Amino acid sequence: MAAGAVHAQAEDACTSEAQIESAQRLFAFESLPGATDYVHCDDSNLKYKAWSGLSLLSTFDDLANEKDGFDQGILGRRPLDFLQERVKRVIFDSPAEQFCNESSAWAYVNGEDHEAGILHLCPAIVDTTPLYIAAIFLHEARHMNGFVHEICERGGFLRGTSGCDKSFEQQGAHAVDVEFLIKVSRTKKLAPSIRKEARSRAIRNLIARFNELPLDLTSGAALASDRGEVVFYDGATPTKMGGKVPEGFKMSSRRDLTFVDGARSRSLKYGFKAKFDDDDFVSEPDFLAALTEDERRMYRDTFEADDFTAVLLNDTLIVWANGETKRFSLPTTKARSFLISEASSLIKSEVLHVVDESSRVFALPKTWSEISTASELRVLGDSLPLLSIANWGVQEEIAVRLTGEVVIYDVGAKKWAPAPKLEQFKAERMVAPYIWSKKLEKL
Ligand SMILES: [Zn+2]
Repeated sequence: MAAGAVHAQAEDACTSEAQIESAQRLFAFESLPGATDYVHCDDSNLKYKAWSGLSLLSTFDDLANEKDGFDQGILGRRPLDFLQERVKRVIFDSPAEQFCNESSAWAYVNGEDHEAGILHLCPAIVDTTPLYIAAIFLHEARHMNGFVHEICERGGFLRGTSGCDKSFEQQGAHAVDVEFLIKVSRTKKLAPSIRKEARSRAIRNLIARFNELPLDLTSGAALASDRGEVVFYDGATPTKMGGKVPEGFKMSSRRDLTFVDGARSRSLKYGFKAKFDDDDFVSEPDFLAALTEDERRMYRDTFEADDFTAVLLNDTLIVWANGETKRFSLPTTKARSFLISEASSLIKSEVLHVVDESSRVFALPKTWSEISTASELRVLGDSLPLLSIANWGVQEEIAVRLTGEVVIYDVGAKKWAPAPKLEQFKAERMVAPYIWSKKLEKL
């Protein structure tokens, strides 16, 4: 996501040449014709990134080892052993290599190569972090045991090719990367930043990479009450999540509560935690710093799109992307929030909706290319007195009205009804359609 451009970014220290050299001794490495040459300290260099990931992995020699539902005991305290027992040869592919190219894969194991322990790395891994590269290595090592994926039947990779495992308990390749990330997140002597990143990535994969949701995870929605509480609702029972929106902060209108990828895929935000840090759930402080004091008083909401970040003031929309800023006047003096919409049959997905206090809805372009070339925003005009709506089942959508009432829309019958057991609940907004279980708060 380019949206991270306005976030403060900590520069990574370069992995030292000595560390890179010791990573090079872990396996036999080869390069296919056209593979990029090594460039030290270049985050966009395949070889530097791969060896940095391996170098990081080799520092993890005593990871947490609590065997429970999250840690199934596949890896033990020193995951590098697991990797070296299985992988014998690592091949750097060129950008033109068919498999890397067509499936935008990070890495792969050819079916006939799995017994020989041959692992291919694709140039796309430069887009992720050394921690996640370490997870990718372990994931691929599991393929050497003959585990293969199946097509995702649900979740964020639904339209992909084959990217999911049947279940977490099956202990396939995704179970291995998740277990590694969970171990890192639980290892107290490691830096908080890497533990946080590991935790959000573990949760993301638990939610998206298994056709059978593990660990009692259930589909539903996260709702914020007008008193700052966060409640998970599965259509039948509301459950208080272990956290509160910090006082003085607003929740952002975002599509994915679990985490938001910043520049270089750094995980910036995540949910699921007994006690939230100030920066969990909220990205406003970063944006507020860029506003004048007058603008800060008019601040209403933030939206992180694929390629831009938008901040809504009472009557102004400010858009950041690729280091540029654009400001647009809105035809309202009392904007309230962006309308969160997720695959709703009632809302066009290609536009960004703004709701104002008198329940008018404005539809704005949702791509940076349209916004960047516009001299003023063309308001497409629409009207639906909702703060948020999400399609969360084949036949149902859940929505929050401007009054705070949570309602369910029956798509077939085109009828609204109050959400069961939420009659007394006053929502400030729906944070996002969500997948959650109480167990996750133990992570
Ligand atoms: Zn795989």
